[in-house]
Amino acid sequence: MRPAEIVDGGSDSELGFRMHRLACELYPLNRSLTGPGVRATLRSVATRLPLTLHEVPSGTAAYDWTVPDEWVVRDAYIALPDGHRLVDVKAHNLHLVGYSRPFRARMRLHDLRSHLHTLPDRPDWIPYRTSYYNDAWGFALRHRELQSFPDDDVELDVVVDTVLQPGCLTYGECVIPGETSDEVLLSTHVCHPSMANDNLSGIAVLAEVGAMLAEIRPHHTYRLLFVPGTIGSIVWLSRNTDVLPRIRHGLVVTGVGGPGPLVYKQTRHGTRHVDRVAAHVVTARGGEVRPFSPWGYDERQFNSPGFDLPVGRLTRTPHGEYPEYHTSADDLAFIRPETMADAFDACVEILDGLDNDTTWRNLSPWGEPQLGKRGLYPPVGGLHADSEVMAMLWVLNQSDGTRSLLDVAELSGLPFAALRRAAAKLRAGGLLEEAP
Ligand code: ZN
Repeated sequence: MRPAEIVDGGSDSELGFRMHRLACELYPLNRSLTGPGVRATLRSVATRLPLTLHEVPSGTAAYDWTVPDEWVVRDAYIALPDGHRLVDVKAHNLHLVGYSRPFRARMRLHDLRSHLHTLPDRPDWIPYRTSYYNDAWGFALRHRELQSFPDDDVELDVVVDTVLQPGCLTYGECVIPGETSDEVLLSTHVCHPSMANDNLSGIAVLAEVGAMLAEIRPHHTYRLLFVPGTIGSIVWLSRNTDVLPRIRHGLVVTGVGGPGPLVYKQTRHGTRHVDRVAAHVVTARGGEVRPFSPWGYDERQFNSPGFDLPVGRLTRTPHGEYPEYHTSADDLAFIRPETMADAFDACVEILDGLDNDTTWRNLSPWGEPQLGKRGLYPPVGGLHADSEVMAMLWVLNQSDGTRSLLDVAELSGLPFAALRRAAAKLRAGGLLEEAP
């Protein structure tokens, strides 16, 4: 029996706005590698799909890495002697360098400068800076704000009221059982505070993909991961070595809400089934395929030689190639409901290709079978066959038991989904059977 068809999540505009609303809800949370912001983010995602939150204690070893102390921000600011705050983490999460250790002092701008980060050529944007895995603190601010700081004769109150102590790293995992125990891994990172394309767009799209999958019984078993970047995926890998042999395909989804066409990044082999399916889907949508490189998001970990998992990556304009990247300009206006809806559709098409790439055999291969007498041909013929008929003719012609629907899609240039629908009709009309 074929699996239930992967379905759309409603009209695209409704779906797009739903994803944008989730991004708006999550935007103010102060996410990092660990801490309450990640937990609150995952709890919110868990209201939309059956997500399990896992807590991994600080100090836990994961291959070459160790789960860090948990980071909690209580307050952080730079203030004038009268208490007026020049920089305040409560005004924007990006003001505090991620993982800043506690610090408190009264100091002059001259001594503070090495702890301040700005973008002189983008004076109204706050840069995103982190200080993971080393003992430091700092603030990030608009260059224009820095220019209005008082002269060196004024002493400033500098307060970093953070807690760095043993706690847990939190990640979310959702397993949706399919007809087979073979798995498709979908992953996104959840460690960025108050930036929308990187990483809220990926969270929003995967939350909807998971919600859609949870409503059907897909062919593959789907496993969705919402993990802090790098350490989160490495920790998950270290705890799931029994799962890894079952992973047949995978996709990292992130950075899909901004401008630019879709970009698919291949696995380290570039020849995995997901590479073929994603290339077909993304290029048909005007997107681009790029070869693997060991830089980027968690596809780096899944594709490391010890695991060598067939995991590609779907984004739009990749990280570092748009000026808003890792700044406060990657905000809720930078991501669009329609680009996220388009990314959702592309994702669903890729999963459809992974789930339903069936090889068929034409049961009436001696000349074209008569479609009309089976109710498969439009009653009024025109000059050209319509696309539905063309899809049926392609499937009938190629289905000799050796070519799959993806082969037919690549050869014909027709969308995979159109060929799958055509095959379903032809089978219902008694013209196709699944090849062994
Ligand atoms: Zn990032």
